[in-house]
This record gives sequence, C-alpha cells and structure tokens, in this order.
Amino acid sequence: SRFAGLGLASDITRAVAEEGYSEPTPIQQRAIPEILQGHDLLAAAQTGTGKTAAFTLPLLQRLLTDGQRAGRKQVRVLVLVPTRELAAQVQESVRTYGRHVAGIRTVLIFGGVGINPQIEQLAAGAEIVVATPGRLLDHVGQKTVDLSKIDVLVLDEADRMLDMGFIHDIRRVIKLLPAQRQNLLFSATFSPDIRKLAEGLLERPVTIDI
Ligand code: AMP
Repeated sequence: SRFAGLGLASDITRAVAEEGYSEPTPIQQRAIPEILQGHDLLAAAQTGTGKTAAFTLPLLQRLLTDGQRAGRKQVRVLVLVPTRELAAQVQESVRTYGRHVAGIRTVLIFGGVGINPQIEQLAAGAEIVVATPGRLLDHVGQKTVDLSKIDVLVLDEADRMLDMGFIHDIRRVIKLLPAQRQNLLFSATFSPDIRKLAEGLLERPVTIDI
C-alpha cells in the first residue's frame, strides 16, 4: 500500500487498511518518513488533516522496533495535549492503529478527576503517556511517573495549550526530560509564542506546512 511505501511495517499498515484508509493524507505523506528517521518536526496542521495518525503510526513502529532496547513498560513516548478529549482521541488512535502490535500500553493523565486510578495505571507500566501538563506535574511531584526513559516528546495542538496558559507547565515538563530525544510539535497556527517555544525545543526541525 501507499502506507507501506512510507516505511511502515505490515502489522501497522494492516490496521490502517482495516480502517478503510486507501491513501495517506498530505501531512501523513510528509511527516511519517521524517518521524521514522528520528527527525524533529514542526508541523502546521488543523484537526481533520489526519495529524493524529501522522505521529501515532510512526511512533508505534518505533516502539515496535526498538522495544527490546529500553525494556518493556517504561514510558518512552510523552504526548502533551490541551484537553482530556484530545487525550482520549490520541489513546483511541493508538488502540486502533496498534491493534496488531502486541502489548503497547497507553496511560491517560488529565486533571479534574481523582489521581489514584492514574497512579495505579502508571504503576502497572506503559510505553505511552498522553497527558495535560498540569496533572502530569502533579504526578512528577508525587514521584508517580518516571520521565527518565522518554525518547519522544509530542506537543499536540500546541497553540491551544498556549491559549490555555500552559506554557510554564510545558517548559517545566521539558526540563525534566532526557536531553537526547525526538521532538514533534503540531499546531494549527504559528504565533510568535509558538515560534519561540519551537526555537527552544526543536533541533534542526523538518517544517511541514500543508
Ligand atoms: P485528525 O486530523 O487526526 O483529527 O483525524 C481526522 C480523521 O481522519 C480521523 O477520524 C481519522 O480516522 C481520519 N483519517 C486519518 N488518516 C486518514 C487517511 N489516511 N484516510 C482517511 N481517513 C483518515
């Protein structure tokens, strides 16, 4: 398929075919090969462009191929999102596209609900954490999340996170991550604040504006 041509493994392209996707969207065509190669990414993408699959598909593949190196059930990928709803959408995408990839677990972290169920889920182990920044910092304070093995950071809908006043929390989280990592920033708009965040965060990023 056209998805296999982007470098995705058959366990992943099979799930995509089962979803009925016949070809990658423009952002998927551009982003997937770059993410697979480990590049940092700055992507202008609205909701509805297929942006969630654009990062979920290659990140599943990376977890699949370097799973042994870091050991299982360590948090390797952190996706920061503005809202609980978006967190749930990302988790749903991981479930859907990862259905033939054994044992990839995702934990959702967001505020406004009890923290204890999240603590239990984190303790059980997961490769992917999808989080709103404030509640993630609560877990850091309680030492209930281990960020030391993270090798990919995704900021999804970064402009909305900034609009919601999360910039200080985002910067605090970034300081806690290993220096050696891949960074992917998705935003519908590019304000001066987003550009400033991107400049401090991204190393020689590939820019995609579709
Ligand atoms: P998103 O932009 O990530 O919010 O995705 C928008 C919608 O597009 C989701 O419902 C996806 O299931 C769908 N979608 C993602 N990639 C494709 C594709 N390659 N072909 C058709 N639909 C897709």
